[in-house]
Amino acid sequence: MARELTLSELESFPSLDWEEIGPRLTPPLRSSIERVLESQNGAELSLQECYALANAEGDDLLGLLVAANVLRAELAGNIVTYVVNRNINFTNICFVGCKFCAFSRGPRESDSYFLGLEQVAQKAVEAWQLGATEVCIQGGLPRGLPKFYYRDLLRAVKSSVPQMHIHAFSPMEIVYGVELTGMPLADYLSMLRDNGLGTLPGTAAEILDDEIRHILSANKLSTAQWVEVIGTAHRCGVRTTSTLMYGHAETPAHWVRQMRLLREIQSETGGFTEFVPLGFVHQNTLLFHQGLARTGPTLAEHLKIHALARLLLAGSINNIQVSWVKLNRRLSQLCLHAGANDYGGTLMEENISREAGASAGQYISPEDFQALILEIGRIPAERNTTYSRIRIKLPLNEEEWTAEQAPETEFA
Ligand code: SF4
Repeated sequence: MARELTLSELESFPSLDWEEIGPRLTPPLRSSIERVLESQNGAELSLQECYALANAEGDDLLGLLVAANVLRAELAGNIVTYVVNRNINFTNICFVGCKFCAFSRGPRESDSYFLGLEQVAQKAVEAWQLGATEVCIQGGLPRGLPKFYYRDLLRAVKSSVPQMHIHAFSPMEIVYGVELTGMPLADYLSMLRDNGLGTLPGTAAEILDDEIRHILSANKLSTAQWVEVIGTAHRCGVRTTSTLMYGHAETPAHWVRQMRLLREIQSETGGFTEFVPLGFVHQNTLLFHQGLARTGPTLAEHLKIHALARLLLAGSINNIQVSWVKLNRRLSQLCLHAGANDYGGTLMEENISREAGASAGQYISPEDFQALILEIGRIPAERNTTYSRIRIKLPLNEEEWTAEQAPETEFA
């Protein structure tokens, strides 16, 4: 049996290199990893090899983390990207009742809220004035939502800030919109696209296995529905992110199957922009208090899932994002050493709330991102939502280059 790694061994893996750790791995695992390093393509791996990587422990795990970092440098270069955006959660009223969710409220709860079209548009205007290029709009699902509310939200934002990229509506909200309007899915998504929808968050995925989904939320859309919404969006020209929530009732085998499913979709549509592992935050959730979930991911799991994604998705989805909201700053930096190349969004919403006097909330300013990235010896760069525009950011007061002008463009 592999020995359990100490905290300090796990935290110091970035000081290892592949030549040093490679020979310490069990031979079959080393050979699997070397084939991916050689081909830069996770399609090389059989299902059994993927399971073995997902269950790596001890030196095998250290080797996986180090190899993911090598592969990241080859596939995504030394740039770490982020997007300046504002999160707008326009309502917390929701009838779905996911057991992992601490955000939703019933309509009569004292802290429930619902933002009207003008309020959402105003938030987008403020965000634009403060430098955001994207608004991320998602919310709870309130009963009796006006039939075309999602379309009208897009219209309200676009008429106030035409250049703003709108990244909006989870696949669950899309299913709800289809139900409200009675429109066919492709027509509904095309209507949203024509009214300003830029991209769709690939959220509401959690674990794409119906048994686990049933534990997490009996009312949530099924795996097949998630795949259908995402595939149809891609075919309508609306790209999406892809996500996975880990650290609750799932096993590493679920991670593997989900990543392979995402590869399949990507090979058909090419519509995924990135993969985002989302760590389960257990406090204040029914899922944890009913004894249905563990206490969120361990440090080893946080690092392993980013590394596993880098290897399994190599050649298919080459942007692996760290969801810093769920992690502390040091841990987010460690994940960037374990295969990730993107920091996600600044989530300006929380900053504005804080400036308005609220004490809660999290926010990382572009300058904070830049400092965190430079601290680990990488190059900070602001991107747009689809990674098609990259602007390299150097330390304050130094020259700014666009990726095109950089001496050597490292972003692929
Ligand atoms: S659908 Fe979204 S807001 Fe509603 S309970 Fe589930 S996770 Fe929470």
